[in-house]
Amino acid sequence: MQTMKYIFFYTFLTAFSSVTFGQSLTDSIALEKIKTTSNSNSSISQAIRQLADINGPRLLGTLNYYNSANWAKQELKRFGTDTAYFESFDKQYRGWTVKSFNMEMTKPNFMHIIAYPLAYTKSTKGTIVAPVTFLANNDSLKYLKGKLKGKILLLGQDFYSFNTSHQILSDRVSKELLQQAAENPDPNDLMIGYHSRRSTNEAIASQEQRRVYFKSFFQFCEQEGVVALIEPSDYPYGILHTDGNHNVPSYNKQKNITPIASFVIANEHFGRLVRLIASGITPTIKLNLETTFNYNPKYNINVVADIKGTDKELSEQQVIIGAHLDSWHGGTGAVDNAAGCAVMLEAIRILKASGLRPNRTIKICLWGGEEQVFAGSRAYVNNHVGNLDNGNKKKDFQNISAYFNLDNGTGKIRGIYTQGNSKVKPIFEEYFSPFKASGNGTVTLQNANQTDHELFDALNIPAFQFIQDPLNYISVVHHTTMDVAEYVNENDLKESAIIVAYLIYKVANQETLLPRRDFISVLPNLAGSTTFFIEGFENAKSVSLVSDFNNWNMFGTPLAKVKGGWSCKLDLSKGKYLYKYIIDGDWTADPKTPKEKLLKDGKGHAGLTEVVVK
Ligand SMILES: [Zn+2]
Repeated sequence: MQTMKYIFFYTFLTAFSSVTFGQSLTDSIALEKIKTTSNSNSSISQAIRQLADINGPRLLGTLNYYNSANWAKQELKRFGTDTAYFESFDKQYRGWTVKSFNMEMTKPNFMHIIAYPLAYTKSTKGTIVAPVTFLANNDSLKYLKGKLKGKILLLGQDFYSFNTSHQILSDRVSKELLQQAAENPDPNDLMIGYHSRRSTNEAIASQEQRRVYFKSFFQFCEQEGVVALIEPSDYPYGILHTDGNHNVPSYNKQKNITPIASFVIANEHFGRLVRLIASGITPTIKLNLETTFNYNPKYNINVVADIKGTDKELSEQQVIIGAHLDSWHGGTGAVDNAAGCAVMLEAIRILKASGLRPNRTIKICLWGGEEQVFAGSRAYVNNHVGNLDNGNKKKDFQNISAYFNLDNGTGKIRGIYTQGNSKVKPIFEEYFSPFKASGNGTVTLQNANQTDHELFDALNIPAFQFIQDPLNYISVVHHTTMDVAEYVNENDLKESAIIVAYLIYKVANQETLLPRRDFISVLPNLAGSTTFFIEGFENAKSVSLVSDFNNWNMFGTPLAKVKGGWSCKLDLSKGKYLYKYIIDGDWTADPKTPKEKLLKDGKGHAGLTEVVVK
């Protein structure tokens, strides 16, 4: 009893003494409860063990993926969520598994080759011993017609030698960089994190183009009698990059083509083969590969669970957290993204076990097929939130306060990207204030993309990815054979789970839904009092507006193709704004504005036109 009393008193004292500016006593007690709960019965180690060591890798459509989903669902039930269930999506995705393989150079000398098969390639007919031919780039393929029978083709277009200064880094984000990001007014000025300047639709379209292009490439190889394809890894130190992003794209649909046996090998071993060929020696390689395709539509699922809100009216509204459960096949998917799932699961456990009662419903979604361009989250958003092609709203659109995503490896959360949502920034600054002193409270206007929150963001649902320490995410583990449990930093994951639990508790209990950005939509707005019109550009695929009124959001304010050009109409509030257009990805000044009249905003944007709204 004595000890109990002491602990209670101590907890109360720390709670009281750690109240920071902007934080009430109740907040501070809630945070202490979260921290105390985090310290007993943490679920993080077990999640990594189960998802990576036991069930990894978790390529979509495989039994491993399905077993992981089942385990996660059971785990959520054990935590005491009100519901825990599967939601299936596009049933066309198939699974693929490596059963066995080996690769050796047998001539001019023996060398065991560090290799791994690329996804969705088929088996060899037993063990093959064959000479290699070097293909410098795919354009020179036509010159090899009739000369490839029984050969192994080295695909050299992405090959380059690393110099000795290439370093493997394990980094934390510096204080200075976080400070700069916090002050940076431009969401498109990508100071930290991982990004692409492509929209989701462009990413999907480019995957489709690759599918078409490579289909004929594989057919050619097969007609010519090539026995296997080998490409170099773009990582040093024998690390193999095993996703489908190079010569073998991810063929993920049922009955799609099956490329011939294809491998990625250590860049250093590829280099030796290339140098031998350059010396007039033709190396011989002995290899075999056994893979299986399986198609079971019940494996194409997201895992969803709810903690029902306790407020009668607000329980209709949702705060969603998510991470992708699937992985590539070369490692065990421990960092990408068992780590993210472990944090989100732990945040749910903490909320339930701490006895905190959220007013709004808290939902967790563990996505399938993120690596196949967001297959799972895309389907979820299309089914529940709104049509991603035409913007038609669905039932949950009005009720989602926020979606929070975790998918940048194992490094701890250092803050959050707000996707140019300047209205949310001060709210998050307050919610992150208890973490500021330990350096984990940066709130930046910057955009982050290339993961599942993009789909919610596209419909202007407040949707966020966290700023995370990179550690060795990009330098070693991302989509490589080294994505294994050794690189998971469990202490960082524990800290992240505390931040997520506190943040979603705060968002679930605040008075109103989180504010959304202005003038952001997947569809052009044509019913406002200020008209934007750009003449011509008939062959452009997309035109959008970037301005201070939409926080320079690159994809948010599209123009419609109209007679003679492109247009949109917006209801802007009174004031002066600066804008320019983005035409097929190119930032373009309004051609109507004479060159000498183009303006700068002093924040890095130039070539701007002023519009005055009265
Ligand atoms: Zn990922």
